[in-house]
Amino acid sequence: MDYHTKKLLGLTDKNFQFPENWLESRTINHLTTHFIHARLDYTPKACSKCGIKNEGQIIKNGTHKTKVQLLPLRSVPTFLSLKRTRFLCKECGATFNAKTPLVEENCYISRELKQKIAMDLARNSSRKDIARQYFVSDVTVMRVMKECVKTFKPNWNFLPTVLCFDEFKAMKSCEGKMSFVFMDGQTRKLLGVLESRRLAYLRTYFYHYSRKARLKVKYIVTDMNAPYFELAKDLFPNAQIVTDRFHIIQQITRSLNQLRIQTMNRYQKTDSLKYSRLKRFWKLFLKDSNSLDSSNYRYNRSFKRPMTGKAIVDELLTYDHTLKLAYETCQYLMYYFKQGKSRHFFDLIYSLDNRLPKWFRKKLTFFKKYKKGIKNALSTNYSNGPLEGTNNKIKVIKRVAYGYRNFANLRDRIYLVQGLIFEDVKDNKKKLQLSKAA
Ligand SMILES: [Zn+2]
Repeated sequence: MDYHTKKLLGLTDKNFQFPENWLESRTINHLTTHFIHARLDYTPKACSKCGIKNEGQIIKNGTHKTKVQLLPLRSVPTFLSLKRTRFLCKECGATFNAKTPLVEENCYISRELKQKIAMDLARNSSRKDIARQYFVSDVTVMRVMKECVKTFKPNWNFLPTVLCFDEFKAMKSCEGKMSFVFMDGQTRKLLGVLESRRLAYLRTYFYHYSRKARLKVKYIVTDMNAPYFELAKDLFPNAQIVTDRFHIIQQITRSLNQLRIQTMNRYQKTDSLKYSRLKRFWKLFLKDSNSLDSSNYRYNRSFKRPMTGKAIVDELLTYDHTLKLAYETCQYLMYYFKQGKSRHFFDLIYSLDNRLPKWFRKKLTFFKKYKKGIKNALSTNYSNGPLEGTNNKIKVIKRVAYGYRNFANLRDRIYLVQGLIFEDVKDNKKKLQLSKAA
């Protein structure tokens, strides 16, 4: 076999020798399969068992036949039928096989194939598709995944200044059970996926981190209903809670929307026109009033005349006093929030108009409980935005796999797709290069 062929096949190990008829095609299970025959032989430098330097003590002792699966060639499954020399060490009496960097010891798939599978796993294609593409079993793909994830170990001596906490539903089977995910709020690097969000569980987990690492955490971003501030007290004594801004805005718009629906339903029997308009233009109604269009008039069928977004909302507000009052309150709150004026924001919360329905006021006074967290959200820029992105990715992973039955498998896959493991590998490589340079 000439060098170019070797290069194409990825069999450039100098210790390989190929016979004249090195390629054999067999049909296995109605599938054409390539077999490349090769011989692996060399004189070992030392004994791999006792480590003694070879000065004639190690002799050749027959051969051992192995089969290594390679990357498919032009979509045909390809194997390397490798005859390895067996060595015998006279010093310690041990026997061992000739080795090649092409494949790890006691492994039947080549490193190259393993890497390809790992890369595909990180690209979030389904395990079955990967198995089919490379002519390996699902179990093999899974084993590669486990091996990759094994290289990831949390660094118990490091935590970032900003931590984002969130939860997600991991599996269909255990309904209502939520899993926990946390991330570096500044670099957006995923730090971990935990099976349970129960406080006791989290406490044990985070106690693994050194006290020094925990003291470094300055902010914890979390949504409002989560009880994580309980954790902060003893685990992260230097940390302040930041309420996720998205959830604050959501709480405001949801309250307003609820009042809109209530008003709308009151008109259902008495005034169908008002009813249908309140129903139809809900999106405009919940929008920031500053972003409503007030100049482009377009014919509107419901009003039977040209209207702008702003004009429509203004008209809707004439239908009900309370609704108008609530609308203005919410718009002010959102304005103060976006401008970062926490004093104005809370002044308004503390002086809500008594004409507003009691339940509605309660939804807003609820913010008083999270005053500190909201103030921090207004003064810093940290949010759980990056985590929401991760949560979407998790959803995609689950969908591609048609749901996971095993939490560990899902977690491993999330780590892979998030590049946690490959990032780590890259980091290590960089470190290696640096240390070599030094
Ligand atoms: Zn030996």
